[in-house]
Amino acid sequence: MLIVMKFGGTSVGSAERIAQAADLATSRAAEGHQVVVVTSAMSGVTNLLIDAATAAATGQWDAAVRQKLMVRHQAVADALVADPARRAAALAEVDRRLERFEKLCYGLSMVHELTPRLLDAISGTGEMLTAPLVAAAIAARGRASSAVDATELIVTTDQFGGAEPLMDATRARTSARLGPLLARGEIPVVTGFIGATGDGVLTTLGRGGSDYSGSILGAALDAGEVWIWTDVDGVLTANPGDVPDARTLPEISYSEASELAYYGAKVLHYKTIIPAFRQRIPVRILNSFNPSHPGTRVSVEGDPSVPGVKAVTAIRGVSLIAISGTGMQGIPGIVAKAFDVVADEGANVLMISQASSENNICFVISTKEAPRVVKALQAALEVDLARGHIEEIDSQPVAVVAAVGDRMRGTPGIAATVFGALGSAGINVTAISQGSSERNISMVVAEEDATKAVRALHQAFRLHLAPTAGVSSEH
Ligand code: ASP
Ligand code: MG
Repeated sequence: MLIVMKFGGTSVGSAERIAQAADLATSRAAEGHQVVVVTSAMSGVTNLLIDAATAAATGQWDAAVRQKLMVRHQAVADALVADPARRAAALAEVDRRLERFEKLCYGLSMVHELTPRLLDAISGTGEMLTAPLVAAAIAARGRASSAVDATELIVTTDQFGGAEPLMDATRARTSARLGPLLARGEIPVVTGFIGATGDGVLTTLGRGGSDYSGSILGAALDAGEVWIWTDVDGVLTANPGDVPDARTLPEISYSEASELAYYGAKVLHYKTIIPAFRQRIPVRILNSFNPSHPGTRVSVEGDPSVPGVKAVTAIRGVSLIAISGTGMQGIPGIVAKAFDVVADEGANVLMISQASSENNICFVISTKEAPRVVKALQAALEVDLARGHIEEIDSQPVAVVAAVGDRMRGTPGIAATVFGALGSAGINVTAISQGSSERNISMVVAEEDATKAVRALHQAFRLHLAPTAGVSSEH
């Protein structure tokens, strides 16, 4: 089977971690699998690069950054690559990439303008530093390996900072470039996070985008599975920070995974699932710090034997925007105007609810965007405000708590349990929405109630227990 293995920042965060990643890749190859590795930057490096770029744009270019990055990556080469020629080659590669980084920052400190395109060129450097080291560590274990820049493989749109793959071109380039390496039994090590436009300009897929790279390359190569090596035991029934007895879900469906990612479960980048899903390639989430744990498998079926709610999650840092007024009843076009404004402001709407009395429309967006959106709404709805159709446009920081599960659909009594549990815990629910897919119920609660709400739901659906002993008898 062809396995695409993506290692996240903490899984390649030090020489020990890279040694472990190399062991995980080579042991699968030794079992007869073909393996493609996708690597993130070492933990913290992307942030460091972005900070350096931001500083350079104000003329404060700190030459020590290059040195600092060299020291950290050199320590990996020293620890993992004993062969002097191989070590020197890997370090020369790292140095060449740092040289490019420094030139970009130097230029930036002259022109003082950090464009999204330049930010991508700089922030994508981290992965280009890790890949040669991971490849050298694999080669040091006796398995041929080479670093490949994803700029040669993943062709993207030119939306810098959040580019989208063009799959046909990506597929053609990836199989042409990696096919021969795989046929020879090599393990290619590809940089996550980055790609390039058709003209070869470097782009990034968005923060945390290496998962997405893994899934894109898996799809491009028709892989058997995509494995995401991270630092937790897969997808849990809740964030263990909220619920200490949260449990790993052995199997979830693509739709459950995307609902959970959308509703703030940090394990998967929310777009990751799409390319794998289109081709029905199973994705595993595994813990490189605990590799014998089976983790979570994401597949088409999920685990249909689990009825009702499978996981509970919370998004914080969001605000509820409410447009209200008794005069809104029967006045057409207010909703359309409001959402035009939100779209123009480029704000992503996490949930919407409107009471059928039409006295109130509310929706949730990121708190960062809230002041801007409220201001734009006030301007766009000025006439309706003046005429008294709308009395108030108001914004308040909240949390969205979501209960997720494919088999919530058609299972009666879920909503009763949800609201019963929140009621008994004394939590006030400000707004509710259930997608017509019936795969999630999301609720707006006060920010300070988020943890309590997640705990109450986790307890009510007995998610700490293995599925067979779970909710089936109650629902
Ligand atoms: N290094 C990139 C980031 O920190 C991509 C990733 O780690 O997935 O956002
Ligand atoms: Mg990362």
